[in-house]
Formats: sequence, C-alpha cells, structure tokens
Amino acid sequence: MNLTVFLGAPGSGKGTQARRLITASSQFLHFSTGDMLRTAISEKKPVGAKARVFMEQGELVPDAIILEMIEETLTPLHRDTRVILDGFPRTLAQATALDLKRTTRVNLCVYFQLPEKSLVSRIAGRITCERCEESYHLQFIPPVRAGICDKCQGTLVQRADDLESVALHRFEIWQEQNEALLKYYNEANRLCEVNADRDPDIIQQYLLNVLGA
Ligand code: AMP
Repeated sequence: MNLTVFLGAPGSGKGTQARRLITASSQFLHFSTGDMLRTAISEKKPVGAKARVFMEQGELVPDAIILEMIEETLTPLHRDTRVILDGFPRTLAQATALDLKRTTRVNLCVYFQLPEKSLVSRIAGRITCERCEESYHLQFIPPVRAGICDKCQGTLVQRADDLESVALHRFEIWQEQNEALLKYYNEANRLCEVNADRDPDIIQQYLLNVLGA
C-alpha cells in the first residue's frame, strides 16, 4: 500500500486538496478521520457516541479509538492501493503506531504550511456541506449559490467546532502536537512542505507532481 499523510492546521486546505486529488486522479482513496467520525455520529454508531464529547469541545479523540478506526479502514484494502490520510495522524503516538502496525510505512508526509494569521480567518469563514463535506469559505471560496453546495446541492453550514471559541482551542491543540509530527517525518526524510497560501489550482498541480499522479 502506498500511504501519504496530509498534515496541516485546521483550515489549511488539506481536506479540500485531498478531495480535488481524488476527483483529478482515480488512483487515490481519501480517508479523513474527521469525516469518518462525523459520519459515525450521524449514523449513531458506538464509536460516534464515544468521539462526540471530545469533538464538541475541540479536543482530540483518544488515540485508541482513532487507531482502531484506521485499522478497520486500511486492513481490507488491496496492497496496490494509494491512500491519502487527511487529519491523521494527529499525535506522535498515532504516527508511530501507523508505521509499526502495518507492513508498509507512510511513504510521504505533505505539510500544508500557512501563516498563523491566515489560519484563523480561514476557519472562522469556513462553511461545510452537510451532505458531502465539501468546504467553502464565505470570502475566499464562496459557493455559486449562497448556502448551497456546488457539487451536491446539499446545505452549507458552519461546523459546530468551527465556531470561534472551539476553533481556537483546536488550533492550540494542533500547535502542541505539530512540531513532534514534523520532526518525526523529517528525520526519516519523508516530509514535503507545500506553501498552502496560494491559489488552490496551483497547489493541486504541485501535489499531482509530487505524488506522481
Ligand atoms: P477535522 O475534520 O480533521 O478537523 O476533525 C474534527 C475533529 O475530529 C477534531 O477536532 C478531533 O476532535 C477529531 N479528530 C479527527 N481526526 C482525529 C485524529 N486523528 N485524532 C484525534 N482526534 C481526531
């Protein structure tokens, strides 16, 4: 299996780029742990009930819950599959477990780099499709019709954890964990940084090149 992880702060555009990549190239599968958890909550699955209280407060869901979910997702996949993991790993323990538990280690870590001041405004203006999780930005990436997803016509809402108070806490937690993760992938020469403060089309082209797609 070819595993690529996308690291970056909440709102850095990693989910948007992962969704663009799977549309541009059928070689990839995209798994977002945040999307998986939100689906588990809406489908009233036990894992959703466990995760919900942490998510509502902007806290990380415990590693054991996340690692079990990732194992269940990756284990059935064919060994030639190219996978993009978005929002995982979030902690060093998750990163090392991912490398140790599987026969294939992570091949590449793409880090979406953005200045701090851009991040806060990105999260604050983010609106997300209730149905397909596509995200937009009130100012930078507005939908064609206000409040309606361009892709699936679903309703656009502000995620509860994107409200400013929770979003700031998520950002602090991300900062606490991020350095150790970057160091971990950098030491193994698996880190690639992308300037995420650019036009999404340019970032996409760059990623297609880096991933050889
Ligand atoms: P995201 O959609 O990636 O911003 O994730 C939303 C929320 O889901 C996070 O704030 C966490 O509460 C939880 N979550 C998602 N992925 C992880 C992970 N890898 N480890 C722990 N918690 C996670």
